[in-house]
Amino acid sequence: MLREAIRALAEEKIAPRAAAADENEEFPEDSYKDLVAADFHAVHVPEEYGGAGADALAAVIVIEEVARVCASTSLIPAVNKLGTVPLLLSASSELKAAYLPAVARGEGMFSYALSEAEAGSDAAAMRTRAVADGDSYVLNGTKMWITNAGVSEFYTVMAVTDPSAGARGISAFVVEKADKGVSFGPKERKLGIRASPTRTVILEDVRIPASRMIGAPGTGFKTALATLDHTRITIAAQALGIAQGALDFAVGYVKERKQFGKAIGDFQGVQFMIADMAMKLEAARQLTYAAAAKSERAMHGTPVKDLTFFSSAAKTAASDAAMEITTEAVQLLGGYGYTRDYPVERMMRDAKITQIYEGTNQIQRMVMARQILK
Ligand SMILES: Cc1cc2nc3c(=O)[nH]c(=O)nc-3n(C[C@H](O)[C@H](O)[C@H](O)COP(=O)(O)OP(=O)(O)OC[C@H]3O[C@@H](n4cnc5c(N)ncnc54)[C@H](O)[C@@H]3O)c2cc1C
Repeated sequence: MLREAIRALAEEKIAPRAAAADENEEFPEDSYKDLVAADFHAVHVPEEYGGAGADALAAVIVIEEVARVCASTSLIPAVNKLGTVPLLLSASSELKAAYLPAVARGEGMFSYALSEAEAGSDAAAMRTRAVADGDSYVLNGTKMWITNAGVSEFYTVMAVTDPSAGARGISAFVVEKADKGVSFGPKERKLGIRASPTRTVILEDVRIPASRMIGAPGTGFKTALATLDHTRITIAAQALGIAQGALDFAVGYVKERKQFGKAIGDFQGVQFMIADMAMKLEAARQLTYAAAAKSERAMHGTPVKDLTFFSSAAKTAASDAAMEITTEAVQLLGGYGYTRDYPVERMMRDAKITQIYEGTNQIQRMVMARQILK
């Protein structure tokens, strides 16, 4: 029922806007409003904070179905989760109560600001500083590549509070767009997910109350990594959705397109491509759903030893599958697939990011190997 409901909304409201949003590189404001009206914009927020209280698998299904028609729009539910999981995992009940209801009501989105220009895969090398001053912290630095920066009202920001302590000297904070000293760089000009703004978040003497620290001093990096264990699964979901959209389109096309006097779908060479695409997609989906079940158990306090492995494996398998499947979809449409008259070229461009963000697939393989070998 959940899938039917979100698919109907996605096909009716989001899909018709996807090509123009990509072409014009515009945040899909109307789609955000439609998601909020149907309560699909941040489904993971627990009921006690006014949210829909969806479990991790339900969140995956929502993201998957939105990504099936528009990957950029799927970053609304996905990044709302990414920005707020640090609070759900580590924040005081006061801090959760101060921010989560606003997200649940759709009054503001939440972004996640870990990366910097010189600190990507090696995120602990960050330079953004937060210095204690009485009951406040003063933040200075520039976060790079922040999804939905500028449109989000709220930001989880990781910053160094103790430069002598390495990763254990990093703390996490909630920063608001409205805080004095917060500004944003220009939109990055990207290959894909062009309707999702990616900007730097510039922090110049941003003074915030110490109560906006998420968890204890020095736990920010641990929280940032623990968050990714849950949210890499949402990137897997995004990849599955993009791949499903491309496969569905290609299947329809090969049944219609005629060459040599018959539908190209009648040729065995084409059929084998379709079979491989569907097989790889379903394998990645089952791994992602298994990872989501583990994420849900871990969120409720059950120790899940292999969550890190499963979330990295799901993200890697699904994103690699999405890149292959979307590329094959373009191939199946021939010259038409290479044009913007059909959605598969956008899906191929959109798929690429899923192999890069929330940790590149090389980093995921390092994470998986470390789990196996330890
Ligand atoms: C569109 C977009 C949106 C993003 N959104 C966010 C966001 O909302 N919040 C946020 O904090 N960040 C965000 N990011 C940042 C993203 O997570 C980083 O780009 C990513 O982690 C890679 O970091 P990097 O770009 O600095 O690449 P680098 O770390 O410089 O890596 C370059 C290459 O080297 C490889 N490499 C690096 N180290 C190793 C190693 N040890 N072994 C093998 N290979 C290695 C990488 O795999 C990659 O292929 C976003 C990025 C993009 C492009």
